[in-house]
Amino acid sequence: MSSSAPKPPVIVWLRQDLRLADQPALAAAVATGHPVLPVYVLDDGAHPLAPGGASRWWLHHSLTAFARDLKRRGGTLILRRGTEPGRMIEALAHEVGALAVYWGRRYDATEIEHDKAVKTRLGAAGIGAKSFNTSLLFEPWAIQNQSGGPYQVFTHYWRACKSTPEPPSPWPAPATVPAPAQLPAGDDLDDWALLPTGPDWARGFGPVWQPGEAGAAARLDRFLADRLHGYKTARDLPDRDGTSGLSPHLRFGEISPRQIWHAVRHHLATARRPPDGDADTFLAELGWREFSYSLLHYHPAIAREPLKPQFARFPWRPDETALRAWQRGMTGYPIVDAGMRQLWATGWMHNRVRMIVASFLIKHLLQPWQGGERWFWDTLVDADPASNAASWQWVAGSGADASPFFRIFNPVLQGRKFDPDGAYVRRWVPELAGLDRTTIHEPWTTEDLPSCGTSKAMARTYPSPMIDLMVGRDRALTAFASLNGKDP
Ligand SMILES: Cc1cc2nc3c(=O)[nH]c(=O)nc-3n(C[C@H](O)[C@H](O)[C@H](O)COP(=O)(O)OP(=O)(O)OC[C@H]3O[C@@H](n4cnc5c(N)ncnc54)[C@H](O)[C@@H]3O)c2cc1C
Repeated sequence: MSSSAPKPPVIVWLRQDLRLADQPALAAAVATGHPVLPVYVLDDGAHPLAPGGASRWWLHHSLTAFARDLKRRGGTLILRRGTEPGRMIEALAHEVGALAVYWGRRYDATEIEHDKAVKTRLGAAGIGAKSFNTSLLFEPWAIQNQSGGPYQVFTHYWRACKSTPEPPSPWPAPATVPAPAQLPAGDDLDDWALLPTGPDWARGFGPVWQPGEAGAAARLDRFLADRLHGYKTARDLPDRDGTSGLSPHLRFGEISPRQIWHAVRHHLATARRPPDGDADTFLAELGWREFSYSLLHYHPAIAREPLKPQFARFPWRPDETALRAWQRGMTGYPIVDAGMRQLWATGWMHNRVRMIVASFLIKHLLQPWQGGERWFWDTLVDADPASNAASWQWVAGSGADASPFFRIFNPVLQGRKFDPDGAYVRRWVPELAGLDRTTIHEPWTTEDLPSCGTSKAMARTYPSPMIDLMVGRDRALTAFASLNGKDP
């Protein structure tokens, strides 16, 4: 190469790590001193992990924010689309004469195989290829039990995580991301049509969320300042802003779990109050995310097949009408309907309510958990291949360290306990806005129902309970007993 020839670029292949700070693949690319070409390839393949509608909304805004932040540091984001992203990256590497391709690792065995094949082919063509941990505190293979396998019990897993060296401190964002003099062609984001093209079902998302790295950092700051203290209690109350709301930012990698971990540690070190367990509880929630990724790694079919094989024989009663009533928040159980409507309106649902609606679908309605998983996949802005599947299996009782099947949430009692004033229900089920705290979780017990909504006509549209709770519970326990009567 003559001294005046331009240096070949290093491609940074972005997947679920759309940020500048603590982005090891990007930092390593900048450190080479070569121009850097960040690339996002939209996977057009028809496969189960193709992003759902709500995730596509988030992706659009996340890519917009990332491209803008990158530009401020001199870089340009290139967008491409195709059915085989790995092949697209290889073709681009040849097209621009890349020195190397760097990326953040994924953890599903099928994805790992794809990435390994890309690495091999790039290597054979004399192009460097390196992968980095961009999205976890502890990679699955770093935390194993004494026989070298994965942990099945969360407390053991998390204890093992905490006994390893702390995750390294986060890296700062690079001051500049030098772009190559000649940029390859890329797509226009608008042409991808990631936003709703017909009725704007996502109009409620914008007021709630600020996708992108700045939005994630602001949320973390607010959480540490206002909500970490008291998190242990407030996290279970859906009418409060008691949790961080960081899940979609984590999902798209706009913030890394390491940044969160160290920010919490720093906050504790500088806070003028003795540790009260709130931070440990919060970090353990991040631990559940890590545990879910470990499960995904060792059980790639986790979104389709029960981890406990006995559950493959479970006598479900698939019923499209029942599933549809649940999806639309028209079951007649206010806390369930409030949750499903919060999900539709904002792309997010409170964790306590996720557990209640999932239990109701699986146990009272005897619908296969996979149907709920797919609906969440399509409607959650934080839809995550590991956490969603692992959580559905947790509720179904078929997962690792799962809640036993016979623990069936009663939506009325759950509502009374965790939404005692009914504020959450009133917010999301306006038909019931006029009911007081004694009847709001069981509106069928009041004669006043026709006049309790924001309008009489509206109140009349609220359905009667679609199933009697005791009947549903007994039916679920009988179905479970048919798997030999024992919790497998
Ligand atoms: C049926 C069901 C489906 C779920 N699907 C998803 C999903 O697709 N994506 C997702 O991120 N979470 C999922 N969860 C877990 C949990 O509900 C959300 O992570 C949480 O509500 C996000 O809100 P937050 O960021 O305010 O949480 P916080 O309470 O602030 O917790 C901080 C972070 O810890 C992680 N976390 C918290 N709880 C869990 C958990 N139980 N399992 C795994 N990680 C957790 C999340 O990354 C979260 O952002 C699901 C739970 C259930 C019961």
